[in-house]
Amino acid sequence: MARVVNSGWYLQGEENKRFEENYAKFIGTKYCVGCANGLDALIWIFRAYIEMGAMQPGDEVIVPANTYIATILAITENGLKPVLVEPKLNTLEMNDDLIEQHISDKTKAICIVHLYGRNAYTEKIGTLREKYNLKLIEDNAQAHGCKHTDGRTTGSIGDAAGHSFYPGKNLGALGDGGAVTTNDENLAKTIRALANYGSQKKYVFKYTGRNSRLDEIQAAVLDVKLNYLVEDNAHRQAVAHYYYENINNPLITLPDHLPDRQNVYHLFPVLVANGRRDMLHDYLEQYGVGTVIHYPIPPHKQECYKTWDGLSLPITERIADEELSLPIGPSITMEQVDAVIKLINDWSVK
Ligand SMILES: *Cc1c(COP(=O)(O)O)cnc(C)c1O
Repeated sequence: MARVVNSGWYLQGEENKRFEENYAKFIGTKYCVGCANGLDALIWIFRAYIEMGAMQPGDEVIVPANTYIATILAITENGLKPVLVEPKLNTLEMNDDLIEQHISDKTKAICIVHLYGRNAYTEKIGTLREKYNLKLIEDNAQAHGCKHTDGRTTGSIGDAAGHSFYPGKNLGALGDGGAVTTNDENLAKTIRALANYGSQKKYVFKYTGRNSRLDEIQAAVLDVKLNYLVEDNAHRQAVAHYYYENINNPLITLPDHLPDRQNVYHLFPVLVANGRRDMLHDYLEQYGVGTVIHYPIPPHKQECYKTWDGLSLPITERIADEELSLPIGPSITMEQVDAVIKLINDWSVK
């Protein structure tokens, strides 16, 4: 940080260049383009495909109904139509058996979300992508460093991926930050221009872009923190495995632990049925244990998408009613995790 401050150069300099190179290498793509935040990263991917003629407003994008709203906002921001697909209750991720029935003449892309840190890519999704010639876009905001069984890192599996460096993410900046990773040179060039007012050459504007850049100071911080990501993820995994081994309260359902779907545990979601979720939250809070709901209102029930209110997505709605995220992160101690497990196993309802 001192190096950046003393350099007098705060945007679009050596720090961005270094971080982009290192992050692209880490993810396993040819290109990485830094931008202002994760939502912008996703917005730029769809916008660039529109500028490149690969999509046009009105086209459809398959996307999980159970996701953070930013995934959906990036699609509607570009005049594209999200086609919401229900999750599986045991993984909380998009049910790949339901994708094909949602594909139409207008479908141009499948957007997968590695939600809660779990790899959402399946071979079935890969087959559909080939069969219908669709773009595969990854929302990798919650899964930096997660790997598919074939060794590829999430963020390098699709045609392009959006990453968020929001402070609480597995790789977090000291403020906002985001990036797109891709092997597509033209896409990377288009996004770099879009995020810089639409300009590739000073004072010459090819697109109606915006100002969406990654600060040099954030790039410098991210480049240091990247060195600790694998270790931090391993700690998250150790905490998660400890939860799996020791939580035995029948009122609480853990998502399936699937050896072939790696998870870097951005969050540790559990389900508590029969209207008791908020009771568990309040009980843990009494003992100083903070838990958070991800997410209490699904996108299709939000006021901003009120025209979708008629959609029936019962599994998504059930997750919104039952989900609670237990404490997890790079700095939680095993003693703290032990205390949380003991509280949870002691919990009962009268
Ligand atoms: C955090 C997040 C985003 C948005 O990232 P920001 O940097 O906060 O804009 C997008 N998608 C998912 C799944 C997220 O968790």
